[in-house]
Amino acid sequence: MEEGAVIKNDMEKAPRTGDWRYMHPEVDASKCIGCSTCVPFCPDACIEMRKRTAEETEKTPENFKEKEIVDFDYDFCKGCGVCASVCPVKAITMRK
Ligand code: SF4
Ligand code: SF4
Repeated sequence: MEEGAVIKNDMEKAPRTGDWRYMHPEVDASKCIGCSTCVPFCPDACIEMRKRTAEETEKTPENFKEKEIVDFDYDFCKGCGVCASVCPVKAITMRK
């Protein structure tokens, strides 16, 4: 391997670490402020930002209407809870 080479993963062959998850993160749409703080902390890179649905937006304070919210890829989330720990507004709860 060359120094500085980028290793590309074939995600179809990647092991589904979510298979052995004990707890999973859930986001409270009315609390998440779309700051993206949790995204780079996830050791499995399985958090993405997405637009809120109309239903989620209805439950959200007016000034957050156009913001994004987190979405978890449960195929790869291993339930470590780091995202819940770093969220500044405690919008993520770990559940069984
Ligand atoms: S629980 Fe861990 S693996 Fe799952 S989304 Fe949060 S930081 Fe990522
Ligand atoms: S879940 Fe918390 S840390 Fe992640 S984007 Fe929402 S407010 Fe920010």
